[in-house]
Amino acid sequence: MKKSFDILIIGGGVAGMSAAIYAKRRGKNVCIIEKFTLGGQVNTIPKIENFPSEVSIDGISLVQNFAMQIERLGVEVIYDDVQKVDYSGETKRVFGREDEYEAKSVILATGLTYVELGKNENDFLGRGVSYCAVCDANFFRGKDVCVASARGSGLKEALVLAEVCSHVTVLDSGDMSAYASANKNKKIDVLSNVQIEKVVGKDAVEGVEISILKAQKVGNGKTKTEHEKRILKTTALFVALGKKPDNTVFGGVKVDAKGFVITNEKMQTSIDGVFAVGDVRSKELKQIVTACSDGAIAGQFA
Ligand SMILES: Cc1cc2nc3c(=O)[nH]c(=O)nc-3n(C[C@H](O)[C@H](O)[C@H](O)COP(=O)(O)OP(=O)(O)OC[C@H]3O[C@@H](n4cnc5c(N)ncnc54)[C@H](O)[C@@H]3O)c2cc1C
Repeated sequence: MKKSFDILIIGGGVAGMSAAIYAKRRGKNVCIIEKFTLGGQVNTIPKIENFPSEVSIDGISLVQNFAMQIERLGVEVIYDDVQKVDYSGETKRVFGREDEYEAKSVILATGLTYVELGKNENDFLGRGVSYCAVCDANFFRGKDVCVASARGSGLKEALVLAEVCSHVTVLDSGDMSAYASANKNKKIDVLSNVQIEKVVGKDAVEGVEISILKAQKVGNGKTKTEHEKRILKTTALFVALGKKPDNTVFGGVKVDAKGFVITNEKMQTSIDGVFAVGDVRSKELKQIVTACSDGAIAGQFA
Protein backbone atom coordinates (compact mmCIF):
# COMPACT_ATOMS: atom_id res chain seq x y z
CA MET A 1 0.00 0.00 0.00
CA LYS A 2 1.31 3.47 -0.92
CA LYS A 3 2.15 5.61 2.13
CA SER A 4 2.13 9.43 1.94
CA PHE A 5 4.13 11.97 3.96
CA ASP A 6 5.10 15.63 3.85
CA ILE A 7 8.78 14.71 4.05
CA LEU A 8 10.49 11.39 3.39
CA ILE A 9 14.02 11.01 4.70
CA ILE A 10 15.97 8.20 3.04
CA GLY A 11 18.62 7.02 5.52
CA GLY A 12 18.45 6.97 9.32
CA GLY A 13 22.01 7.99 10.16
CA VAL A 14 22.70 11.06 12.30
CA ALA A 15 22.07 13.38 9.32
CA GLY A 16 18.66 11.84 8.63
CA MET A 17 17.68 11.80 12.30
CA SER A 18 18.70 15.47 12.75
CA ALA A 19 16.62 16.40 9.70
CA ALA A 20 13.67 14.53 11.22
CA ILE A 21 13.98 16.40 14.54
CA TYR A 22 13.84 19.80 12.85
CA ALA A 23 11.10 18.87 10.37
CA LYS A 24 8.90 17.26 13.04
CA ARG A 25 9.21 20.28 15.30
CA ARG A 26 7.84 22.35 12.38
CA GLY A 27 4.72 20.18 12.51
CA LYS A 28 5.51 18.18 9.36
CA ASN A 29 4.43 14.60 8.79
CA VAL A 30 7.90 13.03 8.60
CA CYS A 31 9.11 9.52 7.94
CA ILE A 32 12.61 8.02 7.96
CA ILE A 33 13.20 5.00 5.75
CA GLU A 34 16.22 3.01 6.96
CA LYS A 35 17.48 -0.22 5.42
CA PHE A 36 19.56 -1.55 8.35
CA THR A 37 19.66 0.18 11.68
CA LEU A 38 19.28 3.74 12.92
CA GLY A 39 22.61 5.50 13.39
CA GLY A 40 24.45 4.25 10.30
CA GLN A 41 28.22 4.58 10.52
CA VAL A 42 28.12 5.95 14.07
CA ASN A 43 27.22 2.46 15.35
CA THR A 44 30.71 1.31 14.32
CA ILE A 45 32.64 3.97 16.26
CA PRO A 46 34.08 2.69 19.56
CA LYS A 47 34.94 6.13 20.96
CA ILE A 48 33.87 9.62 19.86
CA GLU A 49 35.69 12.59 21.38
CA ASN A 50 34.84 15.40 18.98
CA PHE A 51 31.06 15.65 19.21
CA PRO A 52 30.39 18.86 21.15
CA SER A 53 28.94 18.35 24.65
CA GLU A 54 30.02 14.67 24.82
CA VAL A 55 33.55 14.53 26.25
CA SER A 56 33.85 10.87 25.29
CA ILE A 57 31.07 8.56 24.18
CA ASP A 58 30.78 5.29 22.26
CA GLY A 59 28.86 5.34 18.97
CA ILE A 60 26.05 3.05 20.08
CA SER A 61 25.24 5.21 23.13
CA LEU A 62 25.20 8.34 20.98
CA VAL A 63 22.84 6.66 18.51
CA GLN A 64 20.55 5.65 21.41
CA ASN A 65 20.31 9.32 22.43
CA PHE A 66 19.32 10.33 18.88
CA ALA A 67 16.82 7.46 18.64
CA MET A 68 15.21 8.41 21.98
CA GLN A 69 14.78 11.97 20.78
CA ILE A 70 13.08 11.09 17.48
CA GLU A 71 10.89 8.53 19.22
CA ARG A 72 9.78 11.14 21.77
CA LEU A 73 8.89 13.51 18.95
CA GLY A 74 6.86 10.80 17.23
CA VAL A 75 8.92 10.52 14.03
CA GLU A 76 7.82 7.48 12.05
CA VAL A 77 10.63 5.05 11.15
CA ILE A 78 10.05 2.41 8.48
CA TYR A 79 12.62 -0.31 7.83
CA ASP A 80 12.86 -0.74 4.08
CA ASP A 81 15.59 -0.69 1.44
CA VAL A 82 14.93 1.99 -1.18
CA GLN A 83 15.56 0.51 -4.63
CA LYS A 84 14.16 3.08 -7.02
CA VAL A 85 12.94 6.69 -7.04
CA ASP A 86 10.98 8.99 -9.31
CA TYR A 87 11.44 12.71 -8.63
CA SER A 88 9.97 13.91 -11.97
CA GLY A 89 6.60 15.08 -10.60
CA GLU A 90 5.65 17.52 -7.86
CA THR A 91 4.94 14.47 -5.68
CA LYS A 92 8.13 12.46 -5.21
CA ARG A 93 7.81 8.70 -5.44
CA VAL A 94 10.08 6.26 -3.59
CA PHE A 95 10.03 2.50 -4.06
CA GLY A 96 11.35 0.21 -1.34
CA ARG A 97 11.74 -3.56 -1.36
CA GLU A 98 8.67 -3.78 0.89
CA ASP A 99 6.48 -0.84 -0.05
CA GLU A 100 5.91 2.32 -2.07
CA TYR A 101 6.01 5.84 -0.59
CA GLU A 102 5.31 9.39 -1.72
CA ALA A 103 6.03 12.83 -0.33
CA LYS A 104 6.16 16.51 -1.20
CA SER A 105 9.88 16.58 -0.33
CA VAL A 106 12.61 13.97 -0.08
CA ILE A 107 15.81 14.31 1.95
CA LEU A 108 18.66 12.08 0.80
CA ALA A 109 20.66 11.00 3.87
CA THR A 110 22.17 7.75 2.64
CA GLY A 111 25.75 8.45 3.74
CA LEU A 112 28.66 6.69 2.14
CA THR A 113 30.67 3.57 2.31
CA TYR A 114 34.42 3.45 2.66
CA VAL A 115 36.37 1.47 0.06
CA GLU A 116 37.76 -1.50 1.98
CA LEU A 117 41.07 -3.31 1.56
CA GLY A 118 39.21 -6.58 1.37
CA LYS A 119 41.65 -8.39 3.69
CA ASN A 120 41.22 -8.96 7.42
CA GLU A 121 41.26 -5.26 8.39
CA ASN A 122 37.71 -5.20 9.76
CA ASP A 123 38.66 -7.78 12.42
CA PHE A 124 40.73 -4.94 13.95
CA LEU A 125 38.19 -2.12 13.58
CA GLY A 126 38.45 0.11 16.64
CA ARG A 127 41.55 -1.82 17.75
CA GLY A 128 44.05 -0.08 15.50
CA VAL A 129 42.24 -0.05 12.17
CA SER A 130 40.39 3.14 11.29
CA TYR A 131 38.81 4.70 8.21
CA CYS A 132 39.02 8.25 9.53
CA ALA A 133 42.21 10.13 10.49
CA VAL A 134 40.39 13.29 11.65
CA CYS A 135 38.32 11.10 14.00
CA ASP A 136 40.96 8.75 15.40
CA ALA A 137 44.44 10.30 15.00
CA ASN A 138 44.42 11.45 18.60
CA PHE A 139 44.22 7.86 19.88
CA PHE A 140 47.68 7.28 18.34
CA ARG A 141 49.39 10.44 19.60
CA GLY A 142 53.18 9.91 19.67
CA LYS A 143 52.91 6.50 17.95
CA ASP A 144 53.99 5.08 14.55
CA VAL A 145 51.09 4.52 12.17
CA CYS A 146 50.54 3.37 8.57
CA VAL A 147 48.13 4.51 5.89
CA ALA A 148 46.73 2.25 3.16
CA SER A 149 46.62 4.36 0.02
CA ALA A 150 45.91 3.98 -3.71
CA ARG A 151 47.36 6.49 -6.21
CA GLY A 152 47.86 9.10 -3.49
CA SER A 153 44.44 8.70 -1.84
CA GLY A 154 46.07 8.51 1.61
CA LEU A 155 48.30 11.59 1.42
CA LYS A 156 45.76 13.98 2.96
CA GLU A 157 45.15 11.50 5.81
CA ALA A 158 48.94 11.22 6.30
CA LEU A 159 49.24 14.98 6.83
CA VAL A 160 46.47 14.91 9.45
CA LEU A 161 48.18 12.00 11.23
CA ALA A 162 51.65 13.61 11.09
CA GLU A 163 50.36 16.45 13.27
CA VAL A 164 50.03 14.11 16.27
CA CYS A 165 51.73 10.79 15.49
CA SER A 166 55.48 10.31 15.72
CA HIS A 167 55.80 8.74 12.26
CA VAL A 168 53.49 7.92 9.33
CA THR A 169 54.24 5.36 6.62
CA VAL A 170 52.04 5.63 3.54
CA LEU A 171 51.69 2.26 1.80
CA ASP A 172 50.56 3.07 -1.73
CA SER A 173 49.61 0.44 -4.27
CA GLY A 174 50.83 2.66 -7.15
CA ASP A 175 54.07 4.39 -8.10
CA MET A 176 54.55 7.31 -5.70
CA SER A 177 58.28 7.87 -6.36
CA ALA A 178 57.74 11.48 -7.58
CA TYR A 179 55.83 12.39 -4.43
CA ALA A 180 58.28 10.52 -2.19
CA SER A 181 61.27 12.49 -3.47
CA ALA A 182 59.42 15.86 -3.26
CA ASN A 183 58.07 15.15 0.24
CA LYS A 184 59.62 17.47 2.84
CA ASN A 185 57.65 16.26 5.85
CA LYS A 186 60.20 14.29 7.87
CA LYS A 187 57.44 12.47 9.75
CA ILE A 188 56.02 10.94 6.55
CA ASP A 189 57.53 8.13 4.45
CA VAL A 190 55.87 6.97 1.27
CA LEU A 191 56.40 3.44 -0.05
CA SER A 192 55.38 2.69 -3.66
CA ASN A 193 53.95 -0.47 -5.24
CA VAL A 194 52.92 -1.98 -1.94
CA GLN A 195 50.20 -4.57 -1.51
CA ILE A 196 48.92 -4.99 2.04
CA GLU A 197 48.49 -8.73 2.57
CA LYS A 198 47.02 -8.68 6.07
CA VAL A 199 46.90 -6.92 9.39
CA VAL A 200 48.77 -8.76 12.13
CA GLY A 201 48.26 -8.64 15.88
CA LYS A 202 46.59 -10.38 18.80
CA ASP A 203 44.18 -8.03 20.59
CA ALA A 204 45.15 -4.95 18.58
CA VAL A 205 47.16 -4.03 15.51
CA GLU A 206 50.85 -4.87 15.91
CA GLY A 207 51.88 -4.65 12.28
CA VAL A 208 50.96 -5.16 8.64
CA GLU A 209 52.25 -7.82 6.31
CA ILE A 210 53.19 -6.16 3.05
CA SER A 211 54.46 -7.25 -0.31
CA ILE A 212 56.52 -4.71 -2.28
CA LEU A 213 56.73 -5.10 -6.04
CA LYS A 214 60.38 -4.65 -7.13
CA ALA A 215 61.37 -4.30 -10.78
CA GLN A 216 64.93 -5.02 -11.97
CA LYS A 217 66.34 -4.38 -15.47
CA VAL A 218 67.79 -7.65 -16.83
CA GLY A 219 69.03 -6.48 -20.25
CA ASN A 220 67.45 -6.61 -23.74
CA GLY A 221 64.94 -4.00 -22.49
CA LYS A 222 63.41 -6.63 -20.26
CA THR A 223 62.49 -6.23 -16.60
CA LYS A 224 62.23 -8.86 -13.92
CA THR A 225 59.74 -8.25 -11.14
CA GLU A 226 59.62 -9.85 -7.74
CA HIS A 227 57.64 -9.40 -4.55
CA GLU A 228 59.51 -8.66 -1.34
CA LYS A 229 57.40 -9.73 1.61
CA ARG A 230 57.85 -8.35 5.11
CA ILE A 231 56.06 -7.34 8.27
CA LEU A 232 56.06 -3.67 9.11
CA LYS A 233 55.56 -2.93 12.81
CA THR A 234 52.90 -0.34 13.51
CA THR A 235 50.21 0.53 16.05
CA ALA A 236 47.54 1.49 13.53
CA LEU A 237 46.43 1.16 9.94
CA PHE A 238 44.34 3.98 8.52
CA VAL A 239 42.54 2.75 5.43
CA ALA A 240 42.28 5.70 3.02
CA LEU A 241 41.34 4.11 -0.28
CA GLY A 242 38.46 6.50 -0.90
CA LYS A 243 34.77 6.77 -0.18
CA LYS A 244 31.82 6.12 -2.41
CA PRO A 245 28.17 7.07 -2.21
CA ASP A 246 25.42 4.71 -3.38
CA ASN A 247 23.57 6.52 -6.16
CA THR A 248 20.45 4.28 -6.24
CA VAL A 249 18.34 6.99 -4.60
CA PHE A 250 19.77 10.01 -6.46
CA GLY A 251 17.15 10.10 -9.23
CA GLY A 252 19.24 12.36 -11.48
CA VAL A 253 20.35 15.07 -9.00
CA LYS A 254 23.61 16.80 -9.93
CA VAL A 255 26.74 15.24 -8.43
CA ASP A 256 30.40 16.29 -8.23
CA ALA A 257 33.33 14.51 -9.91
CA LYS A 258 33.46 11.98 -7.07
CA GLY A 259 29.75 11.22 -7.27
CA PHE A 260 28.62 13.16 -4.17
CA VAL A 261 25.43 15.24 -4.31
CA ILE A 262 25.81 18.98 -4.91
CA THR A 263 23.55 21.26 -2.82
CA ASN A 264 23.17 24.92 -2.04
CA GLU A 265 23.28 26.34 1.50
CA LYS A 266 19.69 25.24 2.16
CA MET A 267 20.72 21.66 1.23
CA GLN A 268 18.56 21.84 -1.93
CA THR A 269 19.79 19.69 -4.80
CA SER A 270 19.37 20.42 -8.52
CA ILE A 271 15.86 18.91 -8.38
CA ASP A 272 13.07 20.94 -6.74
CA GLY A 273 11.87 19.31 -3.52
CA VAL A 274 14.91 17.03 -3.19
CA PHE A 275 17.48 17.78 -0.49
CA ALA A 276 20.73 16.05 0.52
CA VAL A 277 22.45 15.95 3.92
CA GLY A 278 25.43 14.38 5.65
CA ASP A 279 28.14 12.29 4.06
CA VAL A 280 26.23 11.81 0.80
CA ARG A 281 26.64 15.53 0.15
CA SER A 282 29.60 17.09 -1.64
CA LYS A 283 31.58 18.82 1.15
CA GLU A 284 35.00 18.98 2.77
CA LEU A 285 34.44 17.76 6.33
CA LYS A 286 32.33 14.62 6.74
CA GLN A 287 31.76 14.29 10.47
CA ILE A 288 28.89 13.72 12.89
CA VAL A 289 28.58 17.37 13.82
CA THR A 290 28.51 18.52 10.17
CA ALA A 291 25.98 15.78 9.29
CA CYS A 292 23.74 17.08 12.11
CA SER A 293 24.13 20.64 10.88
CA ASP A 294 23.13 19.65 7.32
CA GLY A 295 20.16 17.73 8.70
CA ALA A 296 18.97 20.68 10.77
CA ILE A 297 19.08 22.98 7.73
CA ALA A 298 17.23 20.56 5.43
CA GLY A 299 14.67 19.82 8.15
CA GLN A 300 13.98 23.54 8.32
CA PHE A 301 13.67 24.17 4.56
CA ALA A 302 12.26 20.92 3.14
C1 LIG B 1 35.13 4.03 11.70
C2 LIG B 1 34.59 5.46 11.68
C3 LIG B 1 34.93 6.33 12.69
C4 LIG B 1 34.41 7.63 12.69
N1 LIG B 1 34.71 8.45 13.74
C5 LIG B 1 34.14 9.67 13.82
C6 LIG B 1 34.36 10.52 14.96
O1 LIG B 1 35.07 10.16 15.90
N2 LIG B 1 33.77 11.74 14.94
C7 LIG B 1 32.97 12.19 13.91
O2 LIG B 1 32.45 13.29 14.00
N3 LIG B 1 32.75 11.42 12.83
C8 LIG B 1 33.31 10.17 12.75
N4 LIG B 1 33.08 9.38 11.65
C9 LIG B 1 32.29 9.94 10.53
C10 LIG B 1 30.78 9.93 10.86
O3 LIG B 1 30.41 8.66 11.35
C11 LIG B 1 29.96 10.28 9.63
O4 LIG B 1 30.38 11.53 9.10
C12 LIG B 1 28.46 10.39 9.93
O5 LIG B 1 28.02 9.26 10.66
C13 LIG B 1 27.66 10.52 8.64
O6 LIG B 1 26.30 10.38 8.94
P1 LIG B 1 25.21 10.23 7.78
O7 LIG B 1 23.90 10.20 8.48
O8 LIG B 1 25.44 11.25 6.74
O9 LIG B 1 25.52 8.86 7.05
P2 LIG B 1 25.53 7.26 7.55
O10 LIG B 1 25.95 7.22 8.95
O11 LIG B 1 26.32 6.63 6.51
O12 LIG B 1 24.01 6.90 7.47
C14 LIG B 1 23.36 6.61 6.26
C15 LIG B 1 22.20 5.67 6.53
O13 LIG B 1 21.45 5.51 5.32
C16 LIG B 1 21.05 4.15 5.21
N5 LIG B 1 20.79 3.87 3.79
C17 LIG B 1 21.71 3.89 2.78
N6 LIG B 1 21.12 3.57 1.61
C18 LIG B 1 19.80 3.33 1.89
C19 LIG B 1 18.68 2.94 1.10
N7 LIG B 1 18.80 2.73 -0.23
N8 LIG B 1 17.48 2.76 1.72
C20 LIG B 1 17.34 2.96 3.05
N9 LIG B 1 18.37 3.33 3.85
C21 LIG B 1 19.59 3.52 3.28
C22 LIG B 1 22.23 3.37 5.77
O14 LIG B 1 21.84 2.07 6.19
C23 LIG B 1 22.65 4.27 6.94
O15 LIG B 1 22.03 3.92 8.16
C24 LIG B 1 33.57 8.07 11.62
C25 LIG B 1 33.25 7.19 10.59
C26 LIG B 1 33.73 5.88 10.63
C27 LIG B 1 33.34 4.92 9.53
